[in-house]
Amino acid sequence: MRWILAGASTIAAQHMIGAFRGNGDTVAHVVSTTPARAAEFAAEHGIPKHGSDLAAALADPETDAVYISSTNEKHRAQALAAIAAGKHVLCEKPLAMTVAEAAEMVRAAQAAGVTFATNHHLRCSGSHRAVRALIAEGRIGRVLSLRIFHAVHLPPHLQGWRIDNPDAGGGVIPDITVHNADVARFLLGEDPASVVAQMTASGMGQGVEDSAMSVWTMPSGAMVFAHESFTHPFAGSGLEVHGTEGSIFARGVMTQLPLGEIELVTAKGREAVPFPDHNLYAQGVRDFSEAVAGRGRPAADGWDGVASLTVALAVREAARTGERQAVRIEGRA
Ligand code: NDP
Repeated sequence: MRWILAGASTIAAQHMIGAFRGNGDTVAHVVSTTPARAAEFAAEHGIPKHGSDLAAALADPETDAVYISSTNEKHRAQALAAIAAGKHVLCEKPLAMTVAEAAEMVRAAQAAGVTFATNHHLRCSGSHRAVRALIAEGRIGRVLSLRIFHAVHLPPHLQGWRIDNPDAGGGVIPDITVHNADVARFLLGEDPASVVAQMTASGMGQGVEDSAMSVWTMPSGAMVFAHESFTHPFAGSGLEVHGTEGSIFARGVMTQLPLGEIELVTAKGREAVPFPDHNLYAQGVRDFSEAVAGRGRPAADGWDGVASLTVALAVREAARTGERQAVRIEGRA
């Protein structure tokens, strides 16, 4: 496939350009709000065409798909333009600033008959797929609880709009809680019914939260605890799934790289669980290409992105009001 990049971003530079090229795809255009930045990014990454006019890039019949990794408030307009031009869309999380906008994007893609996916990379990892398989095979019995530890230290080069610009979608909840929502849905196969939460600014956030803790009630009765932060240098990441017959401990697995370790503990003892160490983003691109070719679904489709945003924004509302929030997720129909 031949891709347009909407957004001269860090994630495109560090992970996605390599993932596209590794899939045999071409990165044909990069579009930035600033022509000079587009030119610089294109030169740095060997991208033949660049500019600040997305419409002009979309008019190029030699392109098939758009990868959107601009700041969050730009996703909606860029996605709708791409869909109107008949391009497939891989959009970064959070899909948009509101659930209504995200659902509008997904419906537009459905109406246009193009593939639309959300770049939730964690469900593409060998580690998360291995944990999901252990749960699905009944290795821990009935799931009682899931604890997700995703409190990291935001590196200086990412401490821009994320920590001080609510209008661009800043804050740890749209940034990381949205990933954790997808992880919980992916692992447990159900959507939260309600959430309670607290959030704070603990040293980095200016006008946005930089830390959040929330508890989600799942329809099965399982409880989910999620902790996200930008301010924790040494906390480490991971998740634990506890069931009636066993527990899964997955350490260091909330990452962009295929790292970490998984241990299964049951009455039989402790065992290390191996998992494939493929590149998470490359897997997402492969799954997207297959979906475009009519073979299966993307790893996370548009409705998965709507769902993760719904949960994350419910967490923020619960924290803001101090009241439990019901979570109502729009379906695929
Ligand atoms: P960046 O801050 O690197 O890029 C976002 C935008 O900021 C760019 O599109 C660019 O705008 C502008 N920008 C970037 N660097 C500079 C610079 N040096 N000078 C001026 N402007 C600059 O954001 P991220 O790459 O971290 O995130 C982009 C999107 O991807 C977000 O939606 C985020 O949530 C998502 N993301 C997803 C991840 C995942 O694993 N799925 C991981 C990281 C981010 P323009 O293009 O207009 O020039």
